[in-house]
Amino acid sequence: MICLFGGTFDPVHVGHVHAARSVCDALGLAEIRLVLSARPGHRGETGASVADRWVMLELACAEDPRLIPDAIEVRRAQALGRPSYTVETLQEVRRAAPAEVLAWVVGSDAYREIPTWYRWQDLFELANLVVLHRPGAPLDLPDELAALTEARRVSGPPEQPAGGVLILDLPMLPVSATAIRRALAEGDPSVADLLSPAVYTYIKRYHLYGVVSDP
Ligand code: ATP
Repeated sequence: MICLFGGTFDPVHVGHVHAARSVCDALGLAEIRLVLSARPGHRGETGASVADRWVMLELACAEDPRLIPDAIEVRRAQALGRPSYTVETLQEVRRAAPAEVLAWVVGSDAYREIPTWYRWQDLFELANLVVLHRPGAPLDLPDELAALTEARRVSGPPEQPAGGVLILDLPMLPVSATAIRRALAEGDPSVADLLSPAVYTYIKRYHLYGVVSDP
C-alpha cells in the first residue's frame, strides 16, 4: 500500500507525528509519506516558507524511520508555477503505480471540508480515504459527503486500489498548528511540548512565527 498524509505542516507538530505513526501501526505499514503542500501559510497569519516547512518536516520525520517526507507537491508546484491540487498529486502517484492500493489520510476537520476541494469526487476514484477522528472535529458531514461515505465505507485496511473510506477511531492528540503559531508569537514556552525538539530548535534559530528570542 502507498499511504500519503498531506498537510501544510505550518509547522509540523506532535499531533501529525502521532497520527502518522498510529496509521502505520493500525494498517501494518512499513512507511507513510508526509506530503508537504506548497500552499502558502494561512491568510492573515504568520506562516513559514515552503523551504522552512520542508526542513521542519524532514526534522520531525527523522524521529521514526517509517515517516518519509515527500516533496511531490512542492515539485509539481514549482513546475506548474501554482500550487498543485491534491487530485493532481494523486493522479501522478497513480500513473506511477497503476494497480497499487493507494490511501490518502486526512483528519476529520479536513475530511468535512473535502467537498470544497478541486474535483473532490475524483479523489475517491484515485485513492482510498483514511479518516482520523480529530479531537474537537466531529464527523458531522454535509449530506452528499455523508451518503458517499456510507456507500464506500470499509471496516479494515483497504484492499482495493481506490474507492474505500476507512474511518479510524484511534486516539489523536488535541494539537493544532494554528494554536502553536499563536503560542509561539506570544512567547508561550509550553509550546515546546507540542513540537519535536529539533523542530522547536529550528524555529527558534531562524525566528519563525514571530519568535524574537530564546525563551
Ligand atoms: P491548522 O491549525 O493551521 O489548520 P493543522 O494542525 O490542522 O493546521 P495541517 O497541516 O493543516 O495541520 O494538517 C494536515 C493534516 O493533518 C490534516 O488532514 C489534518 O486534519 C491532520 N491533522 C492535523 N493535526 C492533527 C492531529 N492533532 N491529529 C490528527 N490529525 C491531525
